[in-house]
Amino acid sequence: MPETLMADKAAFDVDKIRQDFPILSQTVRGKPLVYLDNAATTQKPHRVIERVRRFDAEEYGTVRRGAYRLCEHATQLFEEARQKVADLLGAGDKKEIVFTSGTTQAINLVAYSFGRRFVNAGDEIIISNIEHHANTVPWQVLCEERGARLKVIPVNDAGELILEEYEKLLSDKTRLVAVNHVSNALGTVNPIREITEKAHAAGARVLIDGAQSTPHMKIDVREIGCDFYTFSGHKMYAPSGIGGVFGKMELWQEMPPYVTGGDMIMTVTLEKTTYAPPPARFEAGTPAITQVIGLGEAIDYLNDIGMDNIARYEKSLLDYGTRLLSEIDGLRIIGTAHDKAALISFALDAAHPHDVVTLLDQDGIAVRGGHHCAQPTMARFGVPATSRASMAFYNKPEELDALAESIRKVIKLFS
Ligand code: PLP
Repeated sequence: MPETLMADKAAFDVDKIRQDFPILSQTVRGKPLVYLDNAATTQKPHRVIERVRRFDAEEYGTVRRGAYRLCEHATQLFEEARQKVADLLGAGDKKEIVFTSGTTQAINLVAYSFGRRFVNAGDEIIISNIEHHANTVPWQVLCEERGARLKVIPVNDAGELILEEYEKLLSDKTRLVAVNHVSNALGTVNPIREITEKAHAAGARVLIDGAQSTPHMKIDVREIGCDFYTFSGHKMYAPSGIGGVFGKMELWQEMPPYVTGGDMIMTVTLEKTTYAPPPARFEAGTPAITQVIGLGEAIDYLNDIGMDNIARYEKSLLDYGTRLLSEIDGLRIIGTAHDKAALISFALDAAHPHDVVTLLDQDGIAVRGGHHCAQPTMARFGVPATSRASMAFYNKPEELDALAESIRKVIKLFS
């Protein structure tokens, strides 16, 4: 084991942490499961599984509507979870947090609602060349509908945004800059504070797609200064079907609803409806109550471990994995940014990613192969797809050894 990881072992007991995750002790095809698809979705600690079970078994009720005990209690837990999200993201006011089903819905909400209020013909929206489709398609649709233009920040060969080019794209026509904090295809950590500052100087608003950052590092939206910041619960050890978006209150107040119906209204007559203030205005219908409670528990769990400890340990895992894979002949790492999250995308000269991941699976190793919902990124790097090993704080260096060994076997098989 490398020295940094051994030093971390004292501060960060990964064997103990692994005991919190029941799924990690299983075998796949007779081999210990090596789960390295954490950028797609993360596993849940026992605490979250148990909290969800207990809520459903003993405390379940609807929220916001009734005056009886179960409803009051569920509403209290629900709003406490909103506060936990606000604290995790560094938001000033929990009312700035709107729950959605995840980042995809969060970006669609902002594209629809901010877009229809603030984006007009001739305006411009800026994204980057390394966005997930969830932070690409909604802006394309909006631009088409409003007669606006979509502009794209290019990246260098390491997968870093070229900031001088970004500055040239900004103008008084720019209404919004929408970029990810961490690229799911390459692992690049983008300089979002600088990006935000420059956008604001041009009079534009900023949305940060935080789907890949919130599980790995401490976030402070007030320090970043961004106007919107999204997250997905299922990528941060919480149940699927829940996520959300921080937005500045001054913006939420100006924005029209996205989905309409129950719970988002102030008054309804047959002639006219007035809307509830944020966040209720953007949370029509019965929300994902149980999932929100699970999210709150997952946040408590992350806080107990400490986001800084997580970031430090994952960085040493990334360094170790990068060194191991760099030593393999015929393997090219795609995405070599100076600042990276614990994710390694790679291509083999010998085999297509789909074959690679199928063969790795024979060794119990779960790695993603494909375009990672980032086809423009793949096009930029001249590949149809990559294999991607994405780590979490429950991964061990030994698992990266197993990955490297299995990749060597694949290369041998195809040569
Ligand atoms: N943005 C990024 C960077 C992602 O990695 C993902 C999911 O992989 C999404 C957006 C979409 O998130 P979700 O599927 O949770 O809505």
